[in-house]
Amino acid sequence: MKYALLDRGDRLSRELSEQFQAQASTRGFVYDEEAPETVVTIGGDGTMLQAFHRYKNQLDRIAFIGIHTGHLGFYADWQKNEIVELLDLMASSEPRNIHYPLLHVEIDTAEGKETHLVLNEFTLKSAEGTLVAAIQINDEPFEMFRGDGIVISTPTGSTGYNKSLGGAVIHPSLEALQIAEIASINNRVYRTLGSSVILPKHHHCDIVPPDPEEELIIGVDHMLMARVGVRSMTCRVAEKKVTFARYRPFTFWNRVREAFIGSV
Ligand code: NAP
Repeated sequence: MKYALLDRGDRLSRELSEQFQAQASTRGFVYDEEAPETVVTIGGDGTMLQAFHRYKNQLDRIAFIGIHTGHLGFYADWQKNEIVELLDLMASSEPRNIHYPLLHVEIDTAEGKETHLVLNEFTLKSAEGTLVAAIQINDEPFEMFRGDGIVISTPTGSTGYNKSLGGAVIHPSLEALQIAEIASINNRVYRTLGSSVILPKHHHCDIVPPDPEEELIIGVDHMLMARVGVRSMTCRVAEKKVTFARYRPFTFWNRVREAFIGSV
């Protein structure tokens, strides 16, 4: 098996990374950073976001595995003391590959179009304070937003920023995107639904800022970027999916319970 490894960069993650590589080579695994079949991350869910963006152009042939150095995560669901068990399973068995939906975002600017593939969420805020934006669903006007920002998440991202905003947790077998508001202002002119909205795969939403000269802060997972001259942003469920290799069952709802509720 050809694999690549990405760690968070802290001392513990680096030590575990060395341990993983030493044990992997004794089992005949080949380290290949350029064209791996499996990408292993050591750190947290944030480390998985970084690995996803490093390898997003090779999603068709890569499966991801995450090892967490702290509590269990949503993408990093092996613990630091389970590395030998994981490597033994990787050497002796075939994983069950599970595929999670992603978000596709197209940003139309004065300089052309740019696209992003998103694992957790796309975030939109204004650099100048309050964000004003028209939201359209399937090319029909839906609402006029005014407030701190908008978060559009994938099902696996629904447990991240979206959940802090009161959005629903969505099972990743549902191919959907979720639009959540950050502190909307509601009055006679600016009126939003108030609750989050979930769109199926065959729907899309456009976000249109009334003033294209406004500087926007765009978030793609853990990355923030500033853009001026944005005419519109279109979000839809991506055609591509991300693959995770499962060597043992760990259901989504158990992960939700472990992360947010604890033992019942
Ligand atoms: P960070 O601010 O260092 O960490 C944010 C936290 O979100 C970490 O505890 C991270 O877990 C956790 N996380 C990431 N993806 C998750 C998911 N799908 N479900 C549940 N928890 C998740 O930032 P970061 O590590 O670069 O991660 C960026 C992510 O932070 C964003 O994609 C967004 O989802 C989240 N975020 C949340 C808020 C909020 O809740 N108010 C605000 C901004 C961003 P680990 O500790 O395992 O890495």
